[in-house]
Amino acid sequence: MGSRRPKISDFYYLSQAHNAGQVAKVWCSCCRTTRFYRPYDLKEVFGDIPTTMVREKMRCEQCKQRYYTNVDFFIPRGEEALSIKFRRLVTIKYERRVIWQDE
Ligand SMILES: [Zn+2]
Repeated sequence: MGSRRPKISDFYYLSQAHNAGQVAKVWCSCCRTTRFYRPYDLKEVFGDIPTTMVREKMRCEQCKQRYYTNVDFFIPRGEEALSIKFRRLVTIKYERRVIWQDE
C-alpha cells in the first residue's frame, strides 16, 4: 500500500491561522460589540493555543462578560479585507504582586 499520511490534527492553532491569513472576529452577544483581531496578537496573549479554545479565553472588553463572546476565524476577501479595523495588541503589562502568608 502507499505511504500513510500523517494524521491531521483536529486542532487548528493560532500560528496556523496566522500563516493562513485568517483573522479572528470576536463578537459579544450581550452588548453586540464586534472586534477583529490578528491571530498573531492573540498568540502573544494566550500562547499558541487551538483556535477553538480562544472563545473561552476572551472576555468582552466592553461589558466584561466572558460567556457571551463568540469567535470566528476566517480569511477576509476583497473590500472586507481593506475595511477591517483591527484591534491591535499594544503591550502586555505584568503586575508585580506581593503575596504574604503566615508561617
Ligand atoms: Zn459585551
